Amino acid sequence: MGDARDSQKTDDATGGQAWETADSTELMPRPSIGVAERRNDLRRRVHDRRGWYEDRCRRQSGRRTGAESRGGRSSAPDFGESQVGQGFLGGCGGNADVDRAIVSSLNYNPSISQTGSPPNGFGVTRPYDFTLSNIDVTLTGDSFTVRATVDNPITYQVRTDLGPSGQVSIESSSDDDISQGNYKQVAGDLTPDMSDLNGRPPREEFWARDLTIRHELFHCTEGRDFARDGVNRAETWLNNQSANNIQGVQDFLSVIPERVAAVRRANMTYPGREERAYGDGAPHYRARAEEIRSKGDDEEFGE
Ligand SMILES: [Zn+2]
Repeated sequence: MGDARDSQKTDDATGGQAWETADSTELMPRPSIGVAERRNDLRRRVHDRRGWYEDRCRRQSGRRTGAESRGGRSSAPDFGESQVGQGFLGGCGGNADVDRAIVSSLNYNPSISQTGSPPNGFGVTRPYDFTLSNIDVTLTGDSFTVRATVDNPITYQVRTDLGPSGQVSIESSSDDDISQGNYKQVAGDLTPDMSDLNGRPPREEFWARDLTIRHELFHCTEGRDFARDGVNRAETWLNNQSANNIQGVQDFLSVIPERVAAVRRANMTYPGREERAYGDGAPHYRARAEEIRSKGDDEEFGE
């Protein structure tokens, strides 16, 4: 399968942007999915458990020897359902050469929060943090039962005060920054331009921080739903694989985050993702702009 970083270019309108931003002309640094690090982390964790398992094999083997010496029994130890490791070892109840089906259950655990460094543009959504946790691999009969959680903390951030070109935020039609002298500019800046990404407002001198948050949240929730679909697809894919041993299961698991990210990315290409998000915000921008224009025409603002 393709490299995650290569795939990111497909939703990249500008050459380097993989995250959704309120200003699609902005270049954002390419995010690091950290697939390699997470794969290493997964390897380390599985390795740790393997060590535990091998120790347990030795302990059980020792006990069995004792039982044999006492009672003469030599039945193989019954592991029942145990943790990661059963599939490792022919010498400890498993047969490394048997091709075993995988029966998986992947749980998706997303979260959405406003955090992180301020964006270069008006706002940014950072969605590509996918990791596995609660990994449990059990040899049950002739198959591996696999459980894991795909954690996906989605974060977004908007500018705290001024826009990227010093734009002043207008949070409502009663904002103190509106005057009789500037209300037409304010209204114009917040009026969605339906010919630009299905409703991007020009925001030359004024922007709306709260509606930018709404825009980023739209990306967050829409992308989350695509990622959830990606987890379901990854589970189906995993269930069509088979493995000889735990290493094989581990290799499949290590690419799950990448596969989920790819589904999200494929569904969040530019310009579609921005057209949907600006389209969602357009009625709210328009309502605010019209209120401001109406109040100004009635001379309700100060000078
Ligand atoms: Zn956007």
